[in-house]
Amino acid sequence: MSQYGMKSAAARGLWRCGGCGLLNRVPQPERALACPRCGAPLHARKPSGVQRCWAFLIAAMLCYLPANLLPIMITSSFRGTQRDTIMSGVIYLWSSGSWPLALVVFIASVVVPLLKILALLLLLVTVQLRSTWAPRQRTRLYRVVEVIGPWSMLDIFVVALMVALVHWQSLANVQAGPGAVAFGAVVVLTMLAAINFDPRLIWDPVEDNNE
Ligand SMILES: [Zn+2]
Repeated sequence: MSQYGMKSAAARGLWRCGGCGLLNRVPQPERALACPRCGAPLHARKPSGVQRCWAFLIAAMLCYLPANLLPIMITSSFRGTQRDTIMSGVIYLWSSGSWPLALVVFIASVVVPLLKILALLLLLVTVQLRSTWAPRQRTRLYRVVEVIGPWSMLDIFVVALMVALVHWQSLANVQAGPGAVAFGAVVVLTMLAAINFDPRLIWDPVEDNNE
């Protein structure tokens, strides 16, 4: 028996329905099953979850660069057109005295997405290597990634707020730039990657190791 106690449900021949949560006994040998209560297909683990997670994560990493390099906001006024990336926006906010807002934008749109990508990368690599290292901490890390998902959208709210402020203050015309599209894609793709990751995979090698 492992140092972490219990055997998993899958090791006891039980699969939990992803649709309604009903625990089902799996016949031997295993075959394709449908949940008797809600009819959803049953699997021991999310099917091809690791591959899907990789696909969404790689796409998110590809979008992270344009999200930070392309203008997120295009302001045109009688003084000309100004294109702001996330970083130039942060620098502008900082130098104009709104440093709390600069800090919020920097953390929400640069630090958080980067940490999220790195965390998912760590989880995927350790699961693929069937690592037994720090499973509790990795499970906690996954929970954090899941919880902060919607919070990354904070940045979009900040852009919306800035657009509203600029409209109110002057006759300038503000548009979301291509960077905003890439940024939205990063947020959505990392959320999809997190949904497809099955945290139970962290525990499978730990269990096999202790049998
Ligand atoms: Zn069900």
